[in-house]
Amino acid sequence: MTNLKQLGEFGLIERLRSRLNTRSPRVKKGIGDDSAVFSTRPNTLQLTSTDSLIESIHFDLKTITPKQLGHKAMAVNISDIAAMGGAPYLALISLGLPTSTSKKFIDELYSGLQTICNSYRIELAGGDTVASPKHLFINVCILGEACKNRVFYRTGAKPGDQIFVTGNLGDSAMGLGILMDKNKNFIAAKHRNALVKKHLEPTPRVKESGLLAKSRLKVTSMIDVSDGLTQDLGHLCAKDKFGANLYEDSLPVSEALKSACLQKKHAPTPWVLQGGEDYELLFTIKPEDVKNLKRLFLKADSFVSHIGEIAKSPKKITLIKRNGSKVSLKPATGFNHFKRK
Ligand code: ADP
Ligand code: MG
Repeated sequence: MTNLKQLGEFGLIERLRSRLNTRSPRVKKGIGDDSAVFSTRPNTLQLTSTDSLIESIHFDLKTITPKQLGHKAMAVNISDIAAMGGAPYLALISLGLPTSTSKKFIDELYSGLQTICNSYRIELAGGDTVASPKHLFINVCILGEACKNRVFYRTGAKPGDQIFVTGNLGDSAMGLGILMDKNKNFIAAKHRNALVKKHLEPTPRVKESGLLAKSRLKVTSMIDVSDGLTQDLGHLCAKDKFGANLYEDSLPVSEALKSACLQKKHAPTPWVLQGGEDYELLFTIKPEDVKNLKRLFLKADSFVSHIGEIAKSPKKITLIKRNGSKVSLKPATGFNHFKRK
């Protein structure tokens, strides 16, 4: 099987270039020069973000296919643009590859990247390729744009603002749990597949972000849930100036997660509160907009849950349980790279 030793850096780049032809008229030069060249639009703000996935920290090649890896690397970056109310349009990919990497692996990786880029109309306009001694890494730099007055920041929520989240939470973490579990047959295949898919092939919420951006709703803050609900909600609490109340009964739990928790004799709530990598949008709106928000999402056939409100109490996130009792949640119980056990 051909690997990078035979192909070489320039052979590889040429191979990528011949496959990744840019289409958008705004990209004047994609792969092939010292920089990509593109034009911007009036009345917009430009957004940019970058995120890396490192083998053995973010993924294990035993459990993810190269195609899924390409999808995920791009999806997590798209999600960062969506979290600001923006639409992605251009991306650069940097790869660190062990010399033993096969041509087939690269082809499949780029097939995953290309498929997701096509579905969101993102141009793959370049990147960088280096040799990595042992582990593979993939970095994406992404550009997006948002309407000048409709960029949503993490800061801006005030006490009384209502908290919403798209989709379900906790599925990705349970999906990862299943991938690491020797006994994968403890739940029905359809639930297992749904949970694993949420972990390996997350859907960035571009549609929902677009709904909010195009609406007149008073969105006061937004973030994508990558490190777990409790931790990411902390970022919406104005650098700990405020707190939040969450209603256990309103937290979105999928049938698949319920089933997995039932089999494992776990309560689903900790999975929902702490599970990372769901890439759902967590946002706040003014209380008078709650009805309109629900109507908008219903009409668009998008799932959203009203899970709580911003509270005055600094730093305190309180879970109101089904029986009415209150539990104070520890502020940062999600993922932290430098505090891993
Ligand atoms: P430089 O020497 O300026 O770093 P390179 O030889 O690394 O240039 O890159 C040549 C062209 O190939 C550039 O347009 C760059 O954006 C593109 N490119 C390099 N690596 C990749 C990659 N992994 N994916 C997509 N495009 C790439
Ligand atoms: Mg280079």
